[in-house]
Amino acid sequence: MAGLNDQEIEAIARQIVAGLTGGGSAPRADRPAGPSLAGELGVFDGIDQAVRAARDAFAQLDDMGLGKRNAIIAAMRDAMREHGSALAREAHEETGLGRYEDKVLKNQLVTEKTPGTEDLHPHAVTGDHGLNLTEPAPYGVIGAITPTTNPTSTIINNAIGMIAAGNAVVFNVHPNARRVSCHNVALLNKAILAAGGPRNLITCIANPTVESAQTLMTHPGIRLVVVTGGGGVVKAAMESGKRAICAGPGNPPVVVDETADIDKAARDIVFGASFDNNIICTDEKECLVVSSVADKLIQGMIYNGAALVWKDQLPALEKVIFRKTHGPRAEAEIDRTLIGKNAGVILQKAGIPCDNSVRLGIVEVDHDHPLLWTEQMMPILPVTRVRDADEGIDLAIALEHPRRHTFAMHSDNLSHLSRMARDCNASIFVKNGPSQAGLGWKGEGYTSFTIASPTGEGMTSPRSFSRWRRCTLVGAFRIV
Ligand code: NAD
Repeated sequence: MAGLNDQEIEAIARQIVAGLTGGGSAPRADRPAGPSLAGELGVFDGIDQAVRAARDAFAQLDDMGLGKRNAIIAAMRDAMREHGSALAREAHEETGLGRYEDKVLKNQLVTEKTPGTEDLHPHAVTGDHGLNLTEPAPYGVIGAITPTTNPTSTIINNAIGMIAAGNAVVFNVHPNARRVSCHNVALLNKAILAAGGPRNLITCIANPTVESAQTLMTHPGIRLVVVTGGGGVVKAAMESGKRAICAGPGNPPVVVDETADIDKAARDIVFGASFDNNIICTDEKECLVVSSVADKLIQGMIYNGAALVWKDQLPALEKVIFRKTHGPRAEAEIDRTLIGKNAGVILQKAGIPCDNSVRLGIVEVDHDHPLLWTEQMMPILPVTRVRDADEGIDLAIALEHPRRHTFAMHSDNLSHLSRMARDCNASIFVKNGPSQAGLGWKGEGYTSFTIASPTGEGMTSPRSFSRWRRCTLVGAFRIV
C-alpha cells in the first residue's frame, strides 16, 4: 500500500466491501463469460490497479515534451492504420451489431481525423501591465466509459484526443465489446511503448460491468469523467460528483423540402441512415418530407436500394420492433436484440419478403407514430409527410425530444436552412449531405465519436480534455 493516500485506501476498502456484498468488481452471475483478458498490455483485473498504472504513466508523460507526445500520437495512428480493419472485424463478430465494411470506415475516420496537439492553442494577452498567458493543461487521469455501438472507434478517438491533451486514460468499456476493446487498448499501448512513451498510458479492466463503471466514475484517482452512451450512463456521470463530459443519445431527423435536389437527397439519406445499420448516434433516424416531393423522394430511395414497407405490413413490423409502446408521440420500448441488425433480417422476421442485400427499409407513418419518436438504432427509416418546411422543422425539433444532438436538412432555400440551423440548436446540423459529413466524413472539419450535447462541448477534441491555466507576468514582455 506504500504510496497510497487516505482517499485511495478508503476507495479500495469500499470496493472490497462492495465485493463481499455482491457489487463492485466481485464475481457475479451476470459477469461476461470467457477467459480473463488481464495481462494484455494495459488490461487489469480491477479499477484500482488500472487507475494506479495510468497515474504512473501520466507522471511520466507529464515529464515528456510535446515532441514526444506527437511521436506517440503518430505511432497510435500508424498502429490503427495497420489494425483498424481487423479490429472492425472483431467488433462486428463480438457485438453482432452493424456492418463490418462500415466499421472499417469508422476506424479509418477516427484514425485520420481525430485532432492531435495542433488543437491546443495557448492564448496570450499583453498590455501596459505586462503579459498574461493561458495554456491548455492535462487533467491527469481521465475515466472514460465507451459504448457497444462504436467500441473501437470511440476508444481510438478518445485515446488520441486525451493523450494529445497530455492525459492518461482508464477505460471502462461496454461489457458486450470487452474482448475487442481490450485488444484495441493493448495494440495502442504497444505502439506507444515502441514510440518511447510510457507503459500503461491507456488502461482498462478485463471484466467491465455497470458497477465497475460507477466505481471508476467516483474513484479518487480520476480527475475527469467522459462518458459516451445512453441516458443511464449520462445520468450516472452527472451524479458522480466529478467534472463530466457527457455524450448522450440522439434521434436525428432529416427534413427534405420542395427546393431540394431530390435525387441527391434520396441517395444521401439511404447512405446515411443505413450506415453501420443505423447504430451511430448521428445517423438519420427519421425523415420528414414536404408532401409535394414525397413520392419522388420515396422513389429515389427505392432506386438507391431501400425496400419500401407497405402500409398493411406496418403492424407486423411494429410487432417485431417494439416490446411495448406508450401511446402517440412517446418513446417506445424496442426489442434490443434487433439493434444494429441488417434490414433484411428485421424485415424477414416481420414476414416481409425482401432481399438479404437490402441496406435500408423505409416505411410511411403518421406524425404520432412511435417509430418517429424512438431512437431505435435499426436500419428501418420512418418517413412522414409534412405540409411545408416550417411544419417539418417544428416536428423535427419536437421528436428530437430535445436532445440537441444532430439534425439534417436537404433544401436549396436559404431561409429554410437558416431557420432550421438556428432553431434546432444542436451539436451538429448537416445541410445537403449525409449525416456522416457532420462527423467529417466527406465533410470538412475534424471528427469525434464523443459528441457531448448534454454538457455542451459538442464535438469533443483535445481542447475539451484540457484544463485552462493562467500565468501572469507583471510589468514586462509586451514587446511593442
Ligand atoms: P449504453 O448506455 O447501454 O452503454 C454505454 C456505456 O455505459 C457502457 O459501457 C455501459 O456499460 C455503461 N453504462 C450504462 N448504464 C450505466 C449506468 N447506469 N452507470 C454506469 N455505466 C453505465 O449505450 P450503448 O448501447 O452502448 O450505446 C448506444 C447509445 O449511446 C445510444 O443511445 C447512442 O445514441 C449513444 N451514443 C452517443 C454518442 C455521442 O457521441 N453522443 C456516441 C455513441 C453512442
